[in-house]
Amino acid sequence: MEQTAPILRIEKISLQDGSGLRTVVFFKGCPLRCAWCSTPESHSATPERAYQANKCTLCGRCVQACPSGALSFSPDKGLSWDSGKCTQCLRCAAACPTGATKVYGEYQTVAQVMRHIHRDEVFYFHSGGGVTLSGGDVLCYPDFAHALLTECKESLINTAAELTMYGDYDRIRQVYPLLNTALIDLKCMDSALHQKWTGQPNDGILQNIHRAAHEFPDVDIHIRVPLIWGVNDDPASIRQTAEFSASLPHCTALEFLPYHRLGQQTYAYLDRPYPLADLPTMTLPEARDKVACLSGRDWPFPVLISKEPAFPAS
Ligand code: SF4
Ligand code: SF4
Repeated sequence: MEQTAPILRIEKISLQDGSGLRTVVFFKGCPLRCAWCSTPESHSATPERAYQANKCTLCGRCVQACPSGALSFSPDKGLSWDSGKCTQCLRCAAACPTGATKVYGEYQTVAQVMRHIHRDEVFYFHSGGGVTLSGGDVLCYPDFAHALLTECKESLINTAAELTMYGDYDRIRQVYPLLNTALIDLKCMDSALHQKWTGQPNDGILQNIHRAAHEFPDVDIHIRVPLIWGVNDDPASIRQTAEFSASLPHCTALEFLPYHRLGQQTYAYLDRPYPLADLPTMTLPEARDKVACLSGRDWPFPVLISKEPAFPAS
């Protein structure tokens, strides 16, 4: 049987996640639980139900369709969902006429994903773009990602992947050498803090980054750091991250991404609490102030904040 992977969505003509116009393939499933994650719908490795109350007409079809008694109406609360009873059979979404109940994720084959990619090829050619695998964590599906990237390479399509670099190095070796650019997410350098905020320590992650960077020096490395209040925004942490990046062969950019709350609504759709409800977003000037501790030194890569140079040109 042809292999499949749970694909969260495929974004067309994206200007994010690599050079030029890109097709971004988001996988579903991630071993980390970063408190600031803006895509909670990518955490679970299987398709799952979500509910958007403002689209609901309270017609009751989902309640009738549910075989588990997980859905009910009450006059005060409207539609209620009991996660303990839900088996994620997804019949409610199939029954919903308005799209208020929907499904995040769908199993797709490599051929299905490649059909989307081939439709966008003309944009890559004119913009210097290509394909980016994102997540969730691509490394949860090394065989699938290997097959997909091999097909892209055979079609001379530029490849990038956003990687946690968490887990067995053998899985990284299946994916990493097929990339033009590795977009590596580096959360913080302190392992205990990393464990506290993501659920996993970072010792293995840092070792994997170092090993892959030296074993496959032809792959460009673009380090991306979510800049989060009270987690990794102090000068010592920012400098340590930059020093680590500078120790890697062919690190072509160090980019800081100021904290935002864009995923907050999605937590509500999934009926999950938003972990950082009290944390304010970080503005560009605030991020510039923090990253200013790296100025005045000739780093072997541009230091960026959300794609823009972090320091004014001198
Ligand atoms: S996914 Fe299935 S079990 Fe869960 S609420 Fe919908 S119909 Fe009920
Ligand atoms: S089927 Fe859709 S519109 Fe009807 S009650 Fe359920 S979620 Fe609301």
